[in-house]
Amino acid sequence: MTQPIGLWPLLRPQRYQLLGALLLQIVSAVGGVVPYLAVVELGRVLLAPHAPDRHRVWLIVAAGAAGLLVRLVAGALASAVAHAADSSLQLSLRRLLARHLTDVPMSWFSRQSAGGLNQVVQNDVNDLHTLVAHTPGELTSAVVVPGLALVYLGAVDWRMTLVALVPVLVGLVLRFALATERRKRDEREVDAAMGRIAVAAVEFVEGIAVVKTFGGAGRAHRRFVEAADDFAERFLRWVGSAAWLASLATLVLSPMVVLLVVLAGGATMIGAGALAPADLLPFLLLSLALTAPVAALAHGLDNVNAARRAAGRIGAVLAEPPAPRPAAPRVPDGHLIELRDVGFTYDGEHPVLRHLDLVIPPGSKVALVGPSGAGKSTIAQLLLGFLTPTTGSVRLGGVDLRDIEPSVLYRRVAFVPQDVRLLRTSVADNIALASSSAGRDEVVAAARAAGVDAHLSSLPRGYDSVVGEDAGLSGGEAQRVSVARALLLDAPVLVLDEATAFADPVTEARTRAAIDRAGEGRTRVVIAHRLATIRDADLVLVLSDGRIAERGTFDELVAADGLLAAMWRAQREDATGAAAAPTRGSLL
Ligand code: ADP
Repeated sequence: MTQPIGLWPLLRPQRYQLLGALLLQIVSAVGGVVPYLAVVELGRVLLAPHAPDRHRVWLIVAAGAAGLLVRLVAGALASAVAHAADSSLQLSLRRLLARHLTDVPMSWFSRQSAGGLNQVVQNDVNDLHTLVAHTPGELTSAVVVPGLALVYLGAVDWRMTLVALVPVLVGLVLRFALATERRKRDEREVDAAMGRIAVAAVEFVEGIAVVKTFGGAGRAHRRFVEAADDFAERFLRWVGSAAWLASLATLVLSPMVVLLVVLAGGATMIGAGALAPADLLPFLLLSLALTAPVAALAHGLDNVNAARRAAGRIGAVLAEPPAPRPAAPRVPDGHLIELRDVGFTYDGEHPVLRHLDLVIPPGSKVALVGPSGAGKSTIAQLLLGFLTPTTGSVRLGGVDLRDIEPSVLYRRVAFVPQDVRLLRTSVADNIALASSSAGRDEVVAAARAAGVDAHLSSLPRGYDSVVGEDAGLSGGEAQRVSVARALLLDAPVLVLDEATAFADPVTEARTRAAIDRAGEGRTRVVIAHRLATIRDADLVLVLSDGRIAERGTFDELVAADGLLAAMWRAQREDATGAAAAPTRGSLL
């Protein structure tokens, strides 16, 4: 893997906005110190032995008020600019991630969990929000305010300034003791445990149907509970190790302790005649401005660290190399599909497919059958270019799929998956997903051909109904929407993963008819689970353990009395048995 991208390169596009926000924040912080200085000056003028100069008093009051105004206006502007930078950063990062995720090889996704990706795209991008929108303000005030106070106090009396600095320095030492390596490691562990909760939660929700059916009393969500317990334990350890240090730091930096130190030091110096009583006033007022930012500083640095870790995870995803693009792309000549001596392994060790040779003439229907795990989906993914063969080659129209631009390939090879995931947008947009220029008439025509027009028209907002909101679709309807999508794309090759279970025979018959219509005149490669659907196939391939065990037409293979014949008998018996005992569900 290439070097992950760090935090600063991610923030780079927003650097001018961030710089602007920083400058405004500095102005705001300076403005914020002025009222304090004004109060101090006012005290000195009013407490002076001679009568106060009215003009000077009003000037000080005006300066204090102006400072307050500058603080408010510049602070509001800084916040607005920082939030604008933040929203454009989030938008551009999510776009960048979305674009990148479409470019990484499909095989990468099979190694990721949905929860892990959600952590990156959602939570980690959100973590950058605090950094961009709030931390610059916190950190600037934490530096500028005590800095200015220190300069002013230093000018009044440097010895007293040192006294006022004692709690600050002790507080800083304690705070930095909080940020030791060990704690950082604990912190990373807490983060990782949080990520595991996200993964377990997504898995739990995705598998809720299975959990409900087979879950037993709490067993099924054990992974989630364990992840939550693990997080709680690590979090408590992390918080626990910090608790006494944090309390001590809070105590040292509390106004009470700070004032006590300044008063004790000041009284001693006044007693010794080393300080004018009026000069104690600025220390009493401004010493608090020295200590308050220490907590803000620590908090701000925590945010920077959290953002760095989030950026690390985002950067790792962005650094994942995209699927290789063909160096010299070629356009397929026709739609003949050839698999030449194809071998494939997912893990580099266990071959899933071995020495596979197959030629699929344009317009033919080829069925892939075989027991679960035989390699049917792997072949489909190879045909779609989602996977590249470990050995041998897959060709379309005489060109190796690796030499075909993805956009060219996907206009020729369409996929109708079994587990159709529709996007949370209108059903019309879902159908026109790959054919953005298609008009409504064409969308409706495709839906009609796929046998789903009647249902879509009956939805509350018709074709504008949004999936997941007011467009309720059964599994069969969703698959027909996906057939309509493939029809609209008008790809000459269809790869179909037949659904294993349909809600009812009517849905099944409709979906099957839609798929048959969609397939007319096209090459169809069907992963078939029900043998009744492939009796008309031009070629049936029976896969077993990564090899083609039998090949021929359906009737030929039944007559040969091999694997297919046995599967066919089993399914027919099952169907008869199910008919005889209607309460028993068929597994296939
Ligand atoms: P089928 O579609 O016939 O059920 P598959 O092509 O899905 O079979 O799987 C073939 C073999 O490859 C199985 O042993 C399966 O466990 C393995 N396999 C499938 N997908 C992956 C993956 N993403 N990573 C590792 N092994 C996989």
